[in-house]
Amino acid sequence: MEYYSTNRQSQPVSLQEAVLRGLAPDRGLYMPQRIGTLPKAFFNNMAQMSLQEISYAVASTLFGEDIESDILKDIVYDTLNFDIPLRHISDDRYCLELFHGPTLAFKDVGARFMARMLSYFNRKADNGGNRCVNVLVATSGDTGSAVANGFLGVPGVRVFVLYPRGKVSKIQEAQFTTLGQNITALEVNGSFDDCQALVKNAFMDKELNDAMMLTSANSINVARFLPQSFYYFYAYAQLAQREQDTTNIVVAVPSGNFGNLAAGLIAKRMGLPIKRFIAANNSNCVFFDYLRTGNYTPRQSITTIANAMDVGDPSNFARILDLYGHSHDAICADISGCTYSDEQISQTIAQTLHDCNYQLDPHGAVAYRATCELLQPGEIGVALETAHPAKFKGTVEHITGCPVEVPQRLQRFLEGKKETVKISSGFHTFKKFLLQTL
Ligand SMILES: *Cc1c(COP(=O)(O)O)cnc(C)c1O
Repeated sequence: MEYYSTNRQSQPVSLQEAVLRGLAPDRGLYMPQRIGTLPKAFFNNMAQMSLQEISYAVASTLFGEDIESDILKDIVYDTLNFDIPLRHISDDRYCLELFHGPTLAFKDVGARFMARMLSYFNRKADNGGNRCVNVLVATSGDTGSAVANGFLGVPGVRVFVLYPRGKVSKIQEAQFTTLGQNITALEVNGSFDDCQALVKNAFMDKELNDAMMLTSANSINVARFLPQSFYYFYAYAQLAQREQDTTNIVVAVPSGNFGNLAAGLIAKRMGLPIKRFIAANNSNCVFFDYLRTGNYTPRQSITTIANAMDVGDPSNFARILDLYGHSHDAICADISGCTYSDEQISQTIAQTLHDCNYQLDPHGAVAYRATCELLQPGEIGVALETAHPAKFKGTVEHITGCPVEVPQRLQRFLEGKKETVKISSGFHTFKKFLLQTL
């Protein structure tokens, strides 16, 4: 199947090319030409199926034309080697816990899937040769850990994580500097913007691109975006086991770049009977304003305690517009919005711990509050809990006054030995470093 660019200036490409390129040449985002629906029998059986079985069925509908079934099955099963349980919190409200992967955040799903698909396509493009693909990723904290761990040990792929020295938390740093193998952490003497500039310069440098194959692993890539639809089906399957009536399900998605929500919309397009979505925002509310006014006005992001959602110009907005033929009315029919201040987020964390004995993280709290405030009678709310509260231990403990237990796999990162390469923020040193790794 072909993938077209949301800007419609570039030619449609194969899945392989879309994955290897990331962004289309016209700077649009790739979308599948057709979104297939799943058969009725699948929906009838879903409640009895595992996460891996459900995900493989969804993956076959999305990617089945382009990847051999046994290989696709391996990619899916290998990606989802952890559970995504649905927890009942109170009344008609649930949380889908997306934080049981290696870095305790939902980005593990997309990053692990993309790593495996990229590795496969790179091997194929190269006719089984040994040309390595080099993933460059600049991070202010969270993306680096999900990408580095997602690609850890994946053959034919090397990852270079660039991060600003002294500007990420200890726990975040430990998650991408202690891995070894095919992961190299570059400690840049500069800011996050400097890191991002180094990566951008590398993609534009002809000599470097001739010498080595470079790619990025941000949420624009279809191989990171589309697999996020899997767990919407799994949430529904788990609800079907517990609820008599599943016709009124509302999913609240804590949103930043809107990749997660866009994947939920794809799931609905594939036939999943989700009644509607809530795009839950922190104080960065460009999308909320768009729903309200019909005008999209990107702006500088502001810092909040749900910082993975501090985005002022969400990249996947283009995909949402495209899915709904740019119709504001059609978008508003499926998605409503909300925006919460740090104070409201804190209050929700404290109150949910007190009333329901459930510890939310700041991101999941934004979504959970939405289900408390915006459900209509008879609706069942599912809030996506996108990170483990221990990732934001300091913030959460400060709010509740109660200690947050750190899971062993997070603790283990802290015990690893940090290994980095220190570089200046000048492009010349970075380029020289990359070239001498060949
Ligand atoms: C990245 C992230 C988000 C936002 O997801 P988008 O797909 O960018 O909307 C929400 N919560 C957490 C914990 C994240 O890391």
